[in-house]
Order: sequence, then C-alpha cells, then structure tokens
Amino acid sequence: MSPSNIPEPQLDSLYQEVILDHNRRPRNFKSLPNATQYCHGLNPLCGDEYHLYLVVDPTNQKITDVGFQGQGCAISKASASMMTTEIKGKPIFQATQLKDAFIELLTKDEVTEETHSKVGNLNLFEGVKEFPIRVKCATLAWHALADALKGISHHEEKP
Ligand code: ZN
Repeated sequence: MSPSNIPEPQLDSLYQEVILDHNRRPRNFKSLPNATQYCHGLNPLCGDEYHLYLVVDPTNQKITDVGFQGQGCAISKASASMMTTEIKGKPIFQATQLKDAFIELLTKDEVTEETHSKVGNLNLFEGVKEFPIRVKCATLAWHALADALKGISHHEEKP
C-alpha cells in the first residue's frame, strides 16, 4: 500500500467532529420572515429537504442575513449550516464563487489548488467523495443557494 492510500486520522476525526457538531447545533437554523430570496431544496434520493432564506441588500448586493430550516442526514444539514456561516455578510458574487468552488470540489476528479484555497474551511467535505451517493446531500443547500439567488423558488436534485 502506498502512503497516499493510508487514511489520515486527524483529518477524518476533524471531518466527523465538525459534521456532527453542525448536525447537532445547526447555525442560522431559522426562517426569515423578511427574506428577499427563498428556495426549497429537495434531495429525494436521501430525503433531505430544506428551506433556504436570504436577505439581500439591494444597495450593495450583500447577503445581510441567511437562515435555513428543514431536515435531512448529518452531511446535508452540516453542509447547509456551514454554508450559512460562510456566506453571511458576503456580496452575492463572492457567495456564488464559493458555491462554484464547493461544487467543483465535490464533483470534479481533479481539483485545482485554486479551488482548494477558495473553498477554505469547507475542504473537509472532500471526504464525502468517497461516498458518491452522499455528494448530492452535501451539495443540496448550495444548489438551493444558486436557485435562490436566481430568484427561482424550488430546487429538486435529479435522481
Ligand atoms: Zn442526505
């Protein structure tokens, strides 16, 4: 076995710890009555279902508040929770760049250094790639974000 095939225990435990923590205590887990953007995200393969709410300030195109509600597996909930902490306060274009980089991280075979550096804290989700059926769980909230920012009100993952 080559060294690259040996799992890195620290990374694995960090991954588990972070995902379980966000699953237990999801951040920004609330609906926003004053939302300017909304999307309903559904992943029928796993049963993950979330409502995503955004408040976008039209004067500077910043996401001033974000919230989500719903239910699903630990990976989908942790990904949605971490997404909200990452995009809150950011301009739409930065949130969109992060979304593109995160989806690339989980769907491309070859991920560039540039993508890894853009993704930052979310790199720990790369481990999800080992479980292809879980990729849609991890990306669900991010597709919902893209749709919410486009003004589309519903996102359903294609099985
Ligand atoms: Zn799931």
